[in-house]
Amino acid sequence: MRTNQTVRFKCHHCLHCCTDVVALPTPWDVVQIVRQTGRHPDEFIEFLTPDEISNVDEDDPTWLICGDERYLMALQRDSKTGCIFLDQYTRACTIYEARPLLCRLFPFRVKETRDGSFRGFALHNDTGCPLHRNGTVAVHDLRALYERDMKHQEDYEDLVKVFNRQTDPDKRPEDFISMFYLKQPVSS
Ligand code: SF4
Ligand code: SF4
Repeated sequence: MRTNQTVRFKCHHCLHCCTDVVALPTPWDVVQIVRQTGRHPDEFIEFLTPDEISNVDEDDPTWLICGDERYLMALQRDSKTGCIFLDQYTRACTIYEARPLLCRLFPFRVKETRDGSFRGFALHNDTGCPLHRNGTVAVHDLRALYERDMKHQEDYEDLVKVFNRQTDPDKRPEDFISMFYLKQPVSS
């Protein structure tokens, strides 16, 4: 099946996705941020309960189970000022080169054929992005990002499975970080 080579879209930097949308990094993204900032994940990660985040399926494979509660790993954000990495004066992302892959893929979604084959990209209609169409984005670039993210998501899900199998009654969601981040200095 023939696929389009571009998607019509241009980001107008309204900052909706950096202020109103929760950014969900993979462990790989977290390590990239540590490498760029030198900060420990505890300084920029938070774990959200289901009543603190919407639009994530109950059966999403990245929920961390601790006792009777579930948590999702997210970048810390403030309800008024947004993502912890959004500069409040310049309104720019301060970790642009290390921003999570999902930030880079927003607001695109993959289109698939009935048998699950790749068919191209479209725009999510329900994210709050104004979806300006006065530009073009190469599908080739999006697909490379998407495939990288899929690989990191698979690794993430495998780690979550191991975490969720642990039966320690004192287990906390913060303990998940130690499964992929060792507390030595991270060289660039
Ligand atoms: S919501 Fe859309 S237009 Fe606004 S900053 Fe994000 S990607 Fe750009
Ligand atoms: S990491 Fe950067 S691009 Fe992603 S939500 Fe935060 S400020 Fe925006």
